[in-house]
Amino acid sequence: MAKRVLFVGAGPGGLMTANRLAKMLPQEIRSGELEIVVLSDTPRHFYQPGLLYVALDLALPDGFERPQNRLKVPGVELVVDPAVRIMANERAVVCKSGRRVEYDYLVIATGSVPDLDAIPGFREGAHSFYTLPEALKLRKAIQSFDSGRLLMIIGVPHKCPVAPLEFMFMLDDALRKSGKRNQVELMYTYPIARLHSLEPVSNWAEKEFAERNIIGETFFNPESIDPVKRLVYTLEGEEVPYDLLVAIPPHTGAKIVKDSGLGDNEGWLPTDRSSLKVIGQDRIYALGDATNLPISKAGSTAHYQSGVVAANLAHELRGEPASVPYDGKVFCFIEAGLEEATHITFDYNHPPQPSDPSGMTHWFKLAFNEMYWLSLRGLI
Ligand SMILES: Cc1cc2nc3c(=O)[nH]c(=O)nc-3n(C[C@H](O)[C@H](O)[C@H](O)COP(=O)(O)OP(=O)(O)OC[C@H]3O[C@@H](n4cnc5c(N)ncnc54)[C@H](O)[C@@H]3O)c2cc1C
Repeated sequence: MAKRVLFVGAGPGGLMTANRLAKMLPQEIRSGELEIVVLSDTPRHFYQPGLLYVALDLALPDGFERPQNRLKVPGVELVVDPAVRIMANERAVVCKSGRRVEYDYLVIATGSVPDLDAIPGFREGAHSFYTLPEALKLRKAIQSFDSGRLLMIIGVPHKCPVAPLEFMFMLDDALRKSGKRNQVELMYTYPIARLHSLEPVSNWAEKEFAERNIIGETFFNPESIDPVKRLVYTLEGEEVPYDLLVAIPPHTGAKIVKDSGLGDNEGWLPTDRSSLKVIGQDRIYALGDATNLPISKAGSTAHYQSGVVAANLAHELRGEPASVPYDGKVFCFIEAGLEEATHITFDYNHPPQPSDPSGMTHWFKLAFNEMYWLSLRGLI
């Protein structure tokens, strides 16, 4: 009987790993010894980093979207039927349609969910760019924003930890180009003692903020928003007025992780930092945003982890030990304006050091936005 590797979630984490595994074991798939099945809750795949460009009116959403079934390689079966329960004891997953899929190995790549209800007043008072409807709404608000204070508030954890900084730098540049910068106060806040969780990034941002006249406030934990008075109340006891509020919602793990009793209180999967197996589950791997690992929730994290999970699955399916470790590698481009970007690379043992922003790095980021579709297929 064929062995089955089942994936839940067809974001970059799930799809890239499934595609890589299929390319590693073509013979086993052809001979009917191996099935690779991906369960998705959507027939479309959206490239989320594109939302930043949509919100700032630099790109249209259509270019960032593809049908899921055009992104898989031969040997991968894609089933659009959301998983509703993982029954680890029975090695089975139940889907919304009632379908029950058994597995030999399971990979959970269900991502993270922006919680728009975590801060009272958020839905009525704040704009965000972490979902497509929110990004489109923000784009409209920015178009008619000519003067006053734009306040950025940030809930943690959230995916792409550098996106709020990118937004501020790009908006600063756009306002300068349109001659509106003098009428607009840009104020960025962060919940801890510095401007970013990664200290070298915070130090870099502090310098850039000073040069661009962007206000940076630390120890700023939003407690509630009054959309009528246009005030943000913080846990620290402050009352801060705004004219346009851009908020990064705190994220939680996916519902299925909570419903299946596999995650912690916020729905993150307890994951071994090296093997990427769910702790206590010998046949379940987790990767991407879904894990509880103390590293950036980023597509690049999922990218590097996918190579490790695919290689270890290939080993295990061949009866060999899963011996490839994940070293915590993450790589992020950071837009430093409309024409320059920097980048950081780091792992469990090496902190990041932002490079000097350059036009070349900006163009690399734009190029990667196109090459993403190749990386999903495991080509780069
Ligand atoms: C504005 C923005 C900018 C970003 N910029 C960058 C960047 O520049 N660089 C970078 O590296 N990262 C960036 N990211 C982060 C990146 O997009 C995510 O970290 C990445 O998509 C995580 O991949 P994932 O596969 O773990 O999760 P996801 O991409 O969220 O995919 C998970 C999938 O699983 C599905 N799913 C959930 N539950 C179920 C279920 N029960 N059954 C079936 N399917 C399910 C979800 O709907 C989703 O399709 C950005 C994100 C945003 C929002």
